[in-house]
Amino acid sequence: MIFDVFNNYYQIKKFKSAQARLANRPAFNYLYPAIQMTNACNKQCKACLRSANSDIAKVEHDVFEKYLVDLRNLSESYHIEYQFVTGGEPTIWKSQGFDIVDVLASLFELNLIKTISMPSNGKVFEDINFAREFFTRLSSRINGTMIVGISIAEYQENLTNSGYIAMDNLIKLSKEPGMKFLPVILVTLSVDDDTDQRLSKIYPGVFQRVTPLAPLGDASDMKDIAPSLTLKGKNKDALGSFYPHYKADVMKKLKISGRDFDRMANSEIIDRMSLHTHCGMSPFVDDKWHYCLPYKDDPRFDLCGIGEMREGTIPDFLNDAGAINCFRAEGLITTLKDHKKNLTKDTREKLEDLFRSSSKVSIAYRGCMVCKAFYDIGVVEELLHEHSDCKR
Ligand code: SF4
Ligand code: SF4
Repeated sequence: MIFDVFNNYYQIKKFKSAQARLANRPAFNYLYPAIQMTNACNKQCKACLRSANSDIAKVEHDVFEKYLVDLRNLSESYHIEYQFVTGGEPTIWKSQGFDIVDVLASLFELNLIKTISMPSNGKVFEDINFAREFFTRLSSRINGTMIVGISIAEYQENLTNSGYIAMDNLIKLSKEPGMKFLPVILVTLSVDDDTDQRLSKIYPGVFQRVTPLAPLGDASDMKDIAPSLTLKGKNKDALGSFYPHYKADVMKKLKISGRDFDRMANSEIIDRMSLHTHCGMSPFVDDKWHYCLPYKDDPRFDLCGIGEMREGTIPDFLNDAGAINCFRAEGLITTLKDHKKNLTKDTREKLEDLFRSSSKVSIAYRGCMVCKAFYDIGVVEELLHEHSDCKR
């Protein structure tokens, strides 16, 4: 076990030093696109953020080839920091004689992306022979290290007292000669949840990315168990089990002490954290390019079709979206304070309700779900119509 810990530690260290070398480049804009290759899945979790299979859709291979052209065009003006290749369950994607290994290999072949990462529910990797064949084939075609995140959560129902077989398989395989992938654990925490602590005991030293359950998709009605904050006051109880993770993230991003975190008003934390959301830099792609995930069903937040991305597509979108520029430049709450007087009476009242101590907002995605809460009550709609003076 100790050997496993060191092995994973050195894998991460080696990966980070390769990343540091790539980071030594001139200042540029950064981009973190996520492409959903399919919304189909081989599981049916009750808290699926994507509403997997609700209406089966996938990016066909010829469309994916146009996406590669988009990335080449974007690379003229952006560093592509991360490429997320997601689903549904991305490992089950197949189209026109290609599978997800072909997709991942093509992304690596571009030589334009700093980190390529694929989340998976792990189901296909429960079979070690399949997993070995998958990663042997991938590793023979790529020139870097691929991050593979295995989702382990209460709602996934895949954690036993001894761990998860897919995670065991990936840790074992990643140490075999010639394998070029780094397995990490993706934990989604609800308010009363010790999955992260149980995993730390079972897999000490294996990197865990812990995120709060977001009330999106089929989990929209799970607001009560999603880590949240009131916008009024300083009480942080509604974070539940996610409290230490949120606190650590806020301390790091805002460069404040733990004591300051506990004393700081929740709305100020949310305001300052919203400046770290990669706002506008993390487009979501399914059948087209969307400005960001929480707004993907609103056509006004569509950037373009796949294959239509031009150097000016994102800046042009931002030039026309004054309110969004305010969020990016000044923070979510500051924007609301500055523009509240221009809202209609009805919307202003709904906003005031949201700021009562009886209301909570999800803090998932460093503030994007708060942004979504404002959107849901019509605030963003009205701000978009107003000609905001925050354009930067
Ligand atoms: S949460 Fe993930 S694994 Fe579960 S059904 Fe949705 S896409 Fe599939
Ligand atoms: S803060 Fe709002 S506009 Fe910015 S990325 Fe998040 S959801 Fe999108």
